[in-house]
Amino acid sequence: MNFKPDRDYASILDSQDPLKSYRDKFYIPQKPNGEEVIYFAGNSLGLQPKSVGANVEQELKDWGTMGVEGHMHAKNPWLPYHEFLTKETAKLVGAKLEEVVNMNSLTVNLHLMMVSFYRPTPQRHKILIEANAFPSDHYAVQSQIKFHGYNPAEALIEMKPREGEAIIRTEDIESLIKKEGDSIALIMFAGVNYYTGQAFDFESITKAGHEKWCVVGFDLAHAAGNLILNLHDWDVDFAVWCNYKYLNGGPGAIGGAFVHKKHLLDMNIPKFWGWWGQDKATRFLMRHNFQPIPTVESWQLSNPPILQLAALKASLDIFDEAGMDALRGKSEKLTGYMEYLIDEKNDGNIEIITPKGVKQRGCQLSLRAKTNGKSIHKKLNRAGVVCDWREPDVIRVAPVPMYNTFTDVWKFVENLFK
Ligand SMILES: *Cc1c(COP(=O)(O)O)cnc(C)c1O
Repeated sequence: MNFKPDRDYASILDSQDPLKSYRDKFYIPQKPNGEEVIYFAGNSLGLQPKSVGANVEQELKDWGTMGVEGHMHAKNPWLPYHEFLTKETAKLVGAKLEEVVNMNSLTVNLHLMMVSFYRPTPQRHKILIEANAFPSDHYAVQSQIKFHGYNPAEALIEMKPREGEAIIRTEDIESLIKKEGDSIALIMFAGVNYYTGQAFDFESITKAGHEKWCVVGFDLAHAAGNLILNLHDWDVDFAVWCNYKYLNGGPGAIGGAFVHKKHLLDMNIPKFWGWWGQDKATRFLMRHNFQPIPTVESWQLSNPPILQLAALKASLDIFDEAGMDALRGKSEKLTGYMEYLIDEKNDGNIEIITPKGVKQRGCQLSLRAKTNGKSIHKKLNRAGVVCDWREPDVIRVAPVPMYNTFTDVWKFVENLFK
């Protein structure tokens, strides 16, 4: 794309943005002087849709006026409430309706999926993960390995980039799987690495894994609502994600899970059971023989938090209206524009460690400051930029297409080199 460096050009891009009206559907935090901040932390906690209040209010009202009757008679009955989010969720991750459910939270769902899909044997008990995966994912896989009586020091393979490189090459992942695959039970990668912003090649990793009979799962915390996903067609075995980052479901929002259709009726897959996984026709007969729902809903344990689902539904409705294709189209432009402006102004102190190619990244750029990283981050904060610092040396910025503007990006880069 051909950009220009002046501020007027940012205004032109904003005026031509087909999604420009969406910003107004969100509350934008303000500085003490009433000016809106430049919010580039949508990869940590997405902003609040203005429609969340009314959605939650509706459930509070029905709870207040109906009590337990709300399960059947609320405007949006609570008994099937999670089903009201299924269609939008399936579209977001590229899944069939029976393959997705919103339940629990991310790390909990990761454990539940590993109960089912990490089935180690003495010959095949290893887990392959990115070396710089998010700590919670590291803890989860280590504890699962120990739970099965193996030693993480031996059973956990951590994929590192080549010496001197920040990004893991797909060909290196493929050749490692080829070499070690016979001993790997589970390949567990992020969709987008939280630190570098690298988007992994789902299809190649899944294919390489399946050729060696490994189960392949993805953590979509930084991918859902950010990338175009086609989990079903890519033949991914399972995936989990949180709904509070790009998906704006609110702090601690209920999480999401995907299990590929081919596994749904496999009765040999171990699973933890709870009454919300029980067949809906017989659930309230209160019998003690478990008959699973023939969908991913059979992984549900408890009846879900309705207020959380109500908040998430507000956001998913907006995603559905805007459409991931349009969002991704704007996102590539917005992040590309940021990269262009940084390259224009760079004094040599800032290195963008996120891959250059749009196929290998989402919204986020990870900026490594050679010197004074922390004080640059402080300076940005003082100027009203909300972005985060990740030890040891990276400033993460995520211009998100739903509510960020090209002018936000322009102002940010001005402040970065001030
Ligand atoms: C944000 C994030 C988490 C957080 O886990 P929770 O269970 O939602 O607290 C875990 N893993 C990854 C990769 C993340 O990006």
